[in-house]
Amino acid sequence: MNSTTAPSNPDPGASPSSSTTTGHLTGHCLCGAVNITVQGEHDPRVGACHCRMCQRWSGGLFLCFTADASAVTVTGEVTRYRSSTFAERAFCPRCGSHLWFNDVDDGGQPRSYELMPGLFDAARSWPLRSEIYVDRAMASVHLAGEHRRKSRAEYEAQNPYVEGDME
Ligand SMILES: [Zn+2]
Ligand SMILES: [Zn+2]
Repeated sequence: MNSTTAPSNPDPGASPSSSTTTGHLTGHCLCGAVNITVQGEHDPRVGACHCRMCQRWSGGLFLCFTADASAVTVTGEVTRYRSSTFAERAFCPRCGSHLWFNDVDDGGQPRSYELMPGLFDAARSWPLRSEIYVDRAMASVHLAGEHRRKSRAEYEAQNPYVEGDME
């Protein structure tokens, strides 16, 4: 990884032209100990990742949506796992619900949030925006539709800070 090319947005398929909306969302983990409020800009579409790290972490398919860091408020105890030099994954230490995958700066602060859509009732009706690492998808997971798709090679070529997927 080249530390001078810090990522601005590592989420699946995001681009500066991503459509965002401003609104108020509330979500919580399975046990209710962690509550997340989004008050401000977020993308009301879901991205999917089939990389090997996300498969291990999620159990098969990783889903997220992007929210501006300044829009997100979290209450309750959260456990963070630094899964990459540039990113952390978080979960509720009581029930294990996955909360987010975040791009973090050198001080460990989130640059933006990639929140788990299943925590939010409002996100249940949102469309799929994009898929990355499609060539690594599990045989049991195929997502239909006309959304954008990128292979591992395509995604890593466009995001050189990614260290590469685990084998
Ligand atoms: Zn919980
Ligand atoms: Zn992934």
